[in-house]
Amino acid sequence: MSVPSWAIRFATSLPNVMVVLSGMSSMEQMQDNLSFMEDFRPLNEEERLLCFRAAEIINSKIAIPCTACSYCTDGCPMNIPIPQFFSIYNEDMREHLEEKRWTINFTNNGIIAKNRGKASECIGCGQCESVCPQHLTIIDHLKDVAKHYERHS
Ligand code: SF4
Ligand code: SF4
Repeated sequence: MSVPSWAIRFATSLPNVMVVLSGMSSMEQMQDNLSFMEDFRPLNEEERLLCFRAAEIINSKIAIPCTACSYCTDGCPMNIPIPQFFSIYNEDMREHLEEKRWTINFTNNGIIAKNRGKASECIGCGQCESVCPQHLTIIDHLKDVAKHYERHS
């Protein structure tokens, strides 16, 4: 079974879900979707638990579980691109690059911070944390980002 088939079957198996939209960009993707949706079979309990286990493993590899909703950025007085910083930081931590002296994300960090606030410029006002639907400790996470990327600047 393809990875998208697991995602679509998971969503379609939820109670009260009547319609599931799937973005497709090739004939192969459409044929794949049709292969399991024409004669739809909801996830059984074993498959459902497998999805949750896979999600646990994936989530355990994410240093900062930011969903990139950007609710936090509009009100930031320092104009800090919070989700972009978290995204590159997660990439580096996934590869266990805490100690590596350089990755492409050191350059990306500079590009992201250009004309915006740096992670180290957070003044700790807490506006972002008050609106984050994931209840992330953004101020502390930005300190980690600054420590990782701004040590050489
Ligand atoms: S705590 Fe820092 S990142 Fe959050 S809104 Fe204030 S200045 Fe911006
Ligand atoms: S509000 Fe929270 S989850 Fe959304 S982008 Fe900001 S840090 Fe990420």
